[in-house]
Amino acid sequence: MIYLDHAATTPVPVEVADAVRNALVEQFGNPSSQYGIGREAKALVARCRESVARALGCEAPRLVFTSCGTESDNFAIRLAAWQGRHAGRHIITTAVEHSAVLEPCRQLEQEGYSITYLKPDKSGNITAAQVAEALRSDTVLVSVMLVNNETGCVFPLREIADTLNAAHSKALLHTDAVQGFLKVPFRADTLGADLISISGHKIGAPKGVGALYLGERVRNPRPLLAGGGQENGLRSGTEATAQLAGFAKAVELRGANLEASLAHMAEIKAYALERLLAIDGVTRVGNGNAPHVLAISLAGYPSANVVEDLGAQGICISAGSACHRGKASHVYEAMNLPKKVKAGVLRVSFGPETQKSDIDALASALKNHRDTRFPML
Ligand code: PLP
Repeated sequence: MIYLDHAATTPVPVEVADAVRNALVEQFGNPSSQYGIGREAKALVARCRESVARALGCEAPRLVFTSCGTESDNFAIRLAAWQGRHAGRHIITTAVEHSAVLEPCRQLEQEGYSITYLKPDKSGNITAAQVAEALRSDTVLVSVMLVNNETGCVFPLREIADTLNAAHSKALLHTDAVQGFLKVPFRADTLGADLISISGHKIGAPKGVGALYLGERVRNPRPLLAGGGQENGLRSGTEATAQLAGFAKAVELRGANLEASLAHMAEIKAYALERLLAIDGVTRVGNGNAPHVLAISLAGYPSANVVEDLGAQGICISAGSACHRGKASHVYEAMNLPKKVKAGVLRVSFGPETQKSDIDALASALKNHRDTRFPML
């Protein structure tokens, strides 16, 4: 199998699986229990928080563990709406966010909030000036992702934070950094965002674990799950110790070789661009410069057919985000791509393990698809 869909999820290294197994079998205590294995489990959770916080660039107590990036996004948005409940009911986000941000925003819309959805330009970019223009005195939240999962565009979070500061805005700034964490260099404590969502399974951890960073402007946060008081009272529920052990190990592995692995992915992406754009009919979509995501289009060839054909040959890529399941992507829609280009968009995404030979196999399968199938649009 040739796996070129690392933006959907990532393979779990054996060291991570061992850490998960160890937490399940050896350190299975409940962190709230008062005896030996309970205390061991509590210490394990504390060590995991330290590891993830170190990689994210913040103090450990600023991190709340969650079950996934989706939960972190939902939590952040609800929390900001609650904090700003007496200040206003306006939210700024982008039209190209993941549905884990768009759907909770739509829920708030049903509850009377007004939402401004910033549109990207043709290359998929959003600017801080757009945020400045949309900002109102009743804006309580600005939610802009760090890296777009379909185009790899990196959004100017630091500039957006500066814009909010310059306007003396009380709005909280949230960023969905699920595709940015350990993919583009940033530190939580200097990025300028008040709330940062991350997810484990995009960086080699098991599915089912994520975290939310809460900055110092977040005050008296309302718990997401009320109950036994775990996660500093913000997200009750017995800690998922095995998932956390896997998360921490994955973060340690990626973090240890970060510079080399980012440089490797950037090199693979440059090579993929060269090989894929050499195929007649293939164009680049957007100009995202995250090292692990490349969007292209084989105009006129429906992407679902290409993905299926290549999948049958053991080559895994996606037609935009894995969450769409055949639906047209709102991201490419918002970029106003020509119809034929939009219908043929393919997302290729890389990891530290990706080799140039994987790209060669993709290029020849794609060329073969183009040569042997009729364009349908
Ligand atoms: N945000 C972005 C940008 C993503 O790419 C994803 C997953 O694809 C998510 C949020 C959701 O993360 P999770 O799968 O951990 O819920």
